[in-house]
Amino acid sequence: MTILNVAKLGNPVLRQKAEPVTTEELLTGDVQRLIDNMVDTMREEAGVGLAAPQVHTPKRIFTLEIKSSNPRYAIDEEVPLLVVVNPQITFRTEDPADGWESCLSIPEMRGVVPRRTSLVLRGLDRKGEEIEIEASDFFARVIQHETDHLDGIVFLDRMRNLSTLTHQHEFFKYWVKE
Ligand SMILES: [Zn+2]
Repeated sequence: MTILNVAKLGNPVLRQKAEPVTTEELLTGDVQRLIDNMVDTMREEAGVGLAAPQVHTPKRIFTLEIKSSNPRYAIDEEVPLLVVVNPQITFRTEDPADGWESCLSIPEMRGVVPRRTSLVLRGLDRKGEEIEIEASDFFARVIQHETDHLDGIVFLDRMRNLSTLTHQHEFFKYWVKE
């Protein structure tokens, strides 16, 4: 188990466009090890997703896993571990919905981001097999957040404005309802 160092906002690797991964390259020990380490790092950091550029590797790969027990989110959904290579998104809705996002590369901050609520995700799994997955709501949100990382986009860029940009401490103090 290897926990990788997560690049933080300001690191140029987060702002570059990541390269597609060929099937041949995907099956190499180096890339398979990278994927294992991304999964370990995502779980260690209690993230719901992690994109390869966040661990200093500008390749089009992300991992995603949503557990209702995640301490960083109050989410009912469960999505088993997903590794996606060269993701392509097709939206199934036009209207975006607002929701809170955070990012392991922008620690301690949250903000409201409009995202489309329903999509189809296509790409390759870690063995190079084609996958097609329908996603909605928070699952669809995480897919959009992670795919953005592969294009050098962070959630701050997607906010309508910065008025909801909030430190985690204040988030739990002022914004959490119920
Ligand atoms: Zn992120």
